[in-house]
Amino acid sequence: MQIHSADFVTSSPDLDNCPESGLAEFAFIGRSNVGKSSLINTLTQKKDLAMVSATPGRTRLINFFLINRKWHLVDLPGYGYAKASGHHRNKFNEFVSDYLLNRTNLSCVFVLIDSRLSPQKIDLEFTQWLMEHEIPFVLIFTKTDKIKAGVLKQNMALFFEAMSEFCDGLPRSYDCSAKTGEGRKQILGFVEQALSNH
Ligand code: GDP
Repeated sequence: MQIHSADFVTSSPDLDNCPESGLAEFAFIGRSNVGKSSLINTLTQKKDLAMVSATPGRTRLINFFLINRKWHLVDLPGYGYAKASGHHRNKFNEFVSDYLLNRTNLSCVFVLIDSRLSPQKIDLEFTQWLMEHEIPFVLIFTKTDKIKAGVLKQNMALFFEAMSEFCDGLPRSYDCSAKTGEGRKQILGFVEQALSNH
């Protein structure tokens, strides 16, 4: 897929205020610092597009970008910030779970995992939650340029092994580097394929 246009649409504090266009949506989520903004900028080839999401007041909102006037790229708040409380065991804020559970035009969630790290509890809990609620998702292992291929393979295998506790079969996954552009073509190809089925 070639990217012809990528424009900020709106920031939404809750599901009721999300755009009503009905366009297919592909959401990106991960722990803070996982490389989400860098990946969004690389995918859209628009330097600083995702900076919009990082402006004061927007970091905890759902940010929508219109791509090729055809689909929405949705930048969800990083779940590494939110503190878990007794009432809030899923460690990400309520309106994000509301969006994920109830947004009818959500096509797929891209869950970003830092490829340099061994499996992190919060990432596993989140993928388990997605599985339990039958929300379609794909894993993206980020920052692959920073590690050796063997370590990447090992960390991915450990992640899949941990997932096998609650999941039959392996989810689709991509390796990516915002620095080298690795994975860009594959991720956009996946979106294109999903759009053609929408
Ligand atoms: P976010 O908090 O998830 O949006 O993460 P950022 O995109 O802001 O990235 C966090 C840090 O990791 C920044 O210093 C980025 O330059 C760096 N980073 C992100 N992606 C990559 C990557 O693919 N390769 C390398 N080498 N650094 C990356």
